[in-house]
Amino acid sequence: MGKGVFQVPRAINEPVKTYAPGTPEREAVLSTYKQMYKQKVEVPLYIGSEEIKTGNTASMHPPHDHKHDLGVYHLASKKEIDQAIASALEAKEQWGKLSWEHRASIFLKAAELIAGPYRNKINAATMIGQSKNIFQAEIDSACELVDFLRFNVQYMTEIYQVQPESNSDAWNRLEYRGLEGFVYAISPFNFTAIAGNLPASPALMGNVVVWKPSAAQVYSAQVIMEVFKEAGVPDGVINMVMGDAKMITDTVLEHRDFAGVHFTGSTDVFKSIWEKIGKNIHNYRSYPRIVGETGGKDFIFAHPSANPQEVATSISRGAFEFQGQKCSAASRAYIPASMWEEVKELVIKDVKSFKMGSPEDMSNFITAVIHESSFDKLARYIDQAKEDKDAEIIVGGNYDKSKGYFIEPTVIKTSNPTYSTMCTELFGPVITIYVYEDQEWKDILPLIDNSTEYALTGAIFSRDRYAIEYATKALENAAGNFYINDKPTGAVVGQQPFGGARGSGTNDKAGSVLNLYRWVSPRTIKETFVPAKNYRYPFLGEK
Ligand code: NAD
Repeated sequence: MGKGVFQVPRAINEPVKTYAPGTPEREAVLSTYKQMYKQKVEVPLYIGSEEIKTGNTASMHPPHDHKHDLGVYHLASKKEIDQAIASALEAKEQWGKLSWEHRASIFLKAAELIAGPYRNKINAATMIGQSKNIFQAEIDSACELVDFLRFNVQYMTEIYQVQPESNSDAWNRLEYRGLEGFVYAISPFNFTAIAGNLPASPALMGNVVVWKPSAAQVYSAQVIMEVFKEAGVPDGVINMVMGDAKMITDTVLEHRDFAGVHFTGSTDVFKSIWEKIGKNIHNYRSYPRIVGETGGKDFIFAHPSANPQEVATSISRGAFEFQGQKCSAASRAYIPASMWEEVKELVIKDVKSFKMGSPEDMSNFITAVIHESSFDKLARYIDQAKEDKDAEIIVGGNYDKSKGYFIEPTVIKTSNPTYSTMCTELFGPVITIYVYEDQEWKDILPLIDNSTEYALTGAIFSRDRYAIEYATKALENAAGNFYINDKPTGAVVGQQPFGGARGSGTNDKAGSVLNLYRWVSPRTIKETFVPAKNYRYPFLGEK
């Protein structure tokens, strides 16, 4: 701390621009998109002050036009991973000592760069590289990332203000140091904001980071690194490396100074990381912090009192926006028989009205899924549903990967509440619906609670207050983000802290004070003003 008890600007959510026809933001982002699409980029490893080109490269292609070449990114070998760890550790001392207000300034500046001069670039990169339509890119790579950066600065100061009681003879203080060692951030493909937040939040709290983005998000990850550099994140504080995920992870997790992992991605990968940390536990200087937000099998439950139109809209938006590739996307729904015909008609009407294609055409609501292996997996499940007697495709069911990885939004109805697509995370534009008898609604709740390993998001729809209270209690452990009369997606930083328990993660709530607490190691300092000069306590006195 410098010379003052400084207050940071009060965080407010970045307003979402509309990109409606005729707006200046629409023209601007389209022009950036077109310009970037023509160029070829070369993404280096960012290690310390160096941008390293190993010569061993992988190519990048837009999911909606996979023959189009966007350029390459360089792949690290074990040597560069060791170098990234060394450069992080070298930066550690100076960064850890820097007064907090300077760390705050850097990340507040990063937020303003994204909200302003980098907005079009980061949105266009997310549209091109991850195939998001402009609205999905805006709420993610611009607004959510800005929100993470701004709110985390505010939460950091709230943590620093939490101080112990003191008496007049001694002053007790809590000092929130970064962890001893370095943090490993591993990010998924589906949110540019998460990719930026995973390294930024530990760094903000005084840590140094080795960050491994997803291979399918490197294109926008480079823009994040450009922003960090321009905002003044010092060399070595955040090092970005790409390459074989297993090799990188093994190298990092074997290091004595590994102090924590900040992971978002699938459940099995996180479990494998946890297992490796356990195996290496005797090698570490400290007990590593393990923070992981993982998969989901998110539900919509409609009570017989619900409004069918609202239920249908929550399915259309909650299951299909960004092609269902949100950890929070609704992928199973439980609808009462009395409402099914109406909900079905409405959802079919919505799905048939969706336009699918490149995000460059802004009338497209649906674009491509992220890569071929995701496409093939989804196609397999859809084909299986066509064969299975207990499944029926209500709408969609077609797919085509000739130009891009396009999967039609698909609704499966099943007569089996534990049918495979009711329990397995597919991570695509597929939702499965189980229709139940109205009078059995209470029996459905334990089924929702127990039929998957996850507990990420879930929504209930009802106009009956008694039913709302009953279901909210019955599903207490079924979702870390629980919605009443709203779709289960669209959490906003500062408003709905995000994360789930069970197989869905450690529930440390990204974008909240709870998450930031994981990246500090507090030191208690007691300073006594007039120290004792005699060991004898009064009780030892003679009569
Ligand atoms: P993924 O698990 O395939 O990849 C995530 C990251 O882990 C990537 O950087 C990847 O390269 C890396 N990785 C892959 N295999 C690895 C290994 N063996 N060792 C170490 N690292 C490895 O996930 P994805 O496809 O990028 O993202 C989708 C998944 O992420 C879904 O399961 C989704 O539910 C989840 N997700 C969860 C949240 C949340 O907040 N709970 C948010 C976004 C995504």
